[in-house]
Amino acid sequence: MTTNQALQQRKEAAVPRGLGIAFPFYAEKAKNAELWDVEGNRYIDFIGGISVLNTGHSHPKITAAVHAQIDKFSHTAAQIACYEIYVELAERLNAAAPGSTPKKTVFFNSGAEAVENAVKIARAYTGRHGVIAFDGGYHGRTVFTLALTGKMTPYKQKFGPMPGGIFRIPYPAEVLGVSEEESLKALKMRFKTDIDPSQVAAIIFEPVQGEGGFHAMSPEFAQKLRKICDEHGIMLICDEVQSGFGRTGTLYATEQLGIEPDLLTTAKSLAGGYPLSGVIGKAEVMDAPDPGGLGGTYTGSPIAVAAALAVMDVFEEENLLERSKQIGERIAAFLQEQKESGISIIGDIRYKGAMLAFDIINADGEADADKTKALIAHAKDNGLMLASCGMYGNTIRIMVPLTVENEILEEGLEIIAKALNA
Ligand code: PMP
Repeated sequence: MTTNQALQQRKEAAVPRGLGIAFPFYAEKAKNAELWDVEGNRYIDFIGGISVLNTGHSHPKITAAVHAQIDKFSHTAAQIACYEIYVELAERLNAAAPGSTPKKTVFFNSGAEAVENAVKIARAYTGRHGVIAFDGGYHGRTVFTLALTGKMTPYKQKFGPMPGGIFRIPYPAEVLGVSEEESLKALKMRFKTDIDPSQVAAIIFEPVQGEGGFHAMSPEFAQKLRKICDEHGIMLICDEVQSGFGRTGTLYATEQLGIEPDLLTTAKSLAGGYPLSGVIGKAEVMDAPDPGGLGGTYTGSPIAVAAALAVMDVFEEENLLERSKQIGERIAAFLQEQKESGISIIGDIRYKGAMLAFDIINADGEADADKTKALIAHAKDNGLMLASCGMYGNTIRIMVPLTVENEILEEGLEIIAKALNA
């Protein structure tokens, strides 16, 4: 029988260490919110392929749509011979996007590629180069998106110098000790010290920071950003790669901010496990690049597009936006109970829908990354996959499929309770 250990040895010999892996086990099969390794060990999956599986592992409806598409064709290159489902998915995403301005959508493979292209489109439309991003933001691993990313270790280490024209401001979050006034002041200061607003193509932000620790932007702050962008002709880009597709209880977290972005990036749970990302934006802005300026060999793969159409159907049929809210409420109540029962290592608990995270702190109330690691290891030994995030590595984030059965959710929470008590 293949063992995890044998595979780990082969991995170490064949794959560079830069691809660090969270757990020393190898997946054999997975179903909804459960995963089995090659030795037959079962895990409850609260990571969901890093927030990709809001519709669970191998949802039968999505799998069937993929099978049906493979039997027709698997690749033509959308920019050589396009296909109806590409257009249909664009139409559905345009109709579902926040704001009433007519929209257009173009597809890519990964979140990073969507972000890169959103910036390209913003530059083409404005004729400017500068981009403002936030501390703690995460936008991808390509060189430009790394430059936008506001977290050094482990992402940017050794990969510099980064491209120019990118300026960063603090992300407002009470728990990080950054007020909204401070953040706005920093933006105004950047305009004085680094780049005139007339040279800024875009401000990019995550409505809820993902890798940065699940910090949500307030509607008031987002509206102020919108106003500043309008005053200076700057494109506002919402990066919804992680917060989108139902994670926060609405299709996009932006809907809860009361603003219309110029451009929005989506990926991860959009296609339920198949590589697909998109840039959705105001039609006039989206049309700024010339024909041939956008694309890529595999972009908008028919297999991934077929999966995404099925994902959208599943969201409606299974009422997953409502389910997202229920899951968030249930987990928050569970954590609150744990805290009240005397588990003092639980710090701040924050959530929007099922986009929920909690901090692990020491007796002095400071970030405790070691205890966070220990909690994740304990959970793993008891059959639960948990992930961390945050600037200080002390945030546990829950990304359980929204399709999770109640029994499995409760079983996962019991394992967390056991780990917290240990
Ligand atoms: N933007 C955000 C907000 C993300 O969370 C991520 C991935 N964690 C990305 C962009 C990059 O996506 P990908 O890994 O698919 O390139």
